[in-house]
Amino acid sequence: MSLLSLLTFALTALLLSLLWVGIAWSLVRLLRLNSPVARVFVYLAPLLTAFFALLRLAPDSRMAIVSVSLGVAALLSLRDVRRYLVYRRRITDGGRRYAHAEALCLPLARTLDVPVPRVYLSPDLTIGPMVLGVARPTIVFPSWTAEQLNDDELRVLLAHELAHVYRRDILLKWALLFLRRLAFWNPVAAWPYRWLSLEIEFACDRIACRLTGKPGTLAKTLCKIQQLGAVQAVDEKRLLQVIPRADLGLRARLEYLGASGSYVFEWPNLFKTLLIFSVYWLVCSKPAEFVLPLLDQAP
Ligand SMILES: [Zn+2]
Repeated sequence: MSLLSLLTFALTALLLSLLWVGIAWSLVRLLRLNSPVARVFVYLAPLLTAFFALLRLAPDSRMAIVSVSLGVAALLSLRDVRRYLVYRRRITDGGRRYAHAEALCLPLARTLDVPVPRVYLSPDLTIGPMVLGVARPTIVFPSWTAEQLNDDELRVLLAHELAHVYRRDILLKWALLFLRRLAFWNPVAAWPYRWLSLEIEFACDRIACRLTGKPGTLAKTLCKIQQLGAVQAVDEKRLLQVIPRADLGLRARLEYLGASGSYVFEWPNLFKTLLIFSVYWLVCSKPAEFVLPLLDQAP
């Protein structure tokens, strides 16, 4: 395949994924799809399309595209793992155990039936808290939180972080980031990846509210830690995409915490999701069948 036709295919795939992303975003708002699970399915589709559209458009080069994409995604992920391990060691070596938070964590962890995590205070962290580790989870708070947060505020944040442990979100985020990087050449994939990251935070906020019964305190505490920890270290910015963080999408989360109807399963959500996928199929998959012969005829 010539470079020119590969570029044409890549541009067409980019436009197709842009169409899918636009449809997902608009229909979720238009239909008021408020179920986080349904929204995950809806947003996962454009993330995958960013990669699969190119495979579909260039069937002769599938092997090459898959090999290069997997190779790049694996290399970038290895680099992230190395950075993450260095960072985790720095937190656990330089931090001190936060016994008071560990005591508050105990009943919450028992309710969720997860291993009681170690809790650290770290001077290296400016915005937090965050969870590190999967088999032996560690919750890390910035050092300043020990003086600034009361027990109620600590409890809602711990409940949120424990929800990440319960759902093994760090693995989920790695998996989503890997999918995003399969389409590393396609900037459109960044949007569904970000929306999916936000859905992870919504889901944990929901669990935290169920555990503590205090959505108002959670909302206020999220604002408080955002204000107090506004200065970010450079290496934290680099880690932002692989670790579920407390400050991600604050405004959307405050709106979500204020919407009481978003915590229950509703049948209309299922129908809305099916409707969105039908629109995907009609608007994106069908026209692809017309686009393909046209591209074939191109000189
Ligand atoms: Zn979180």
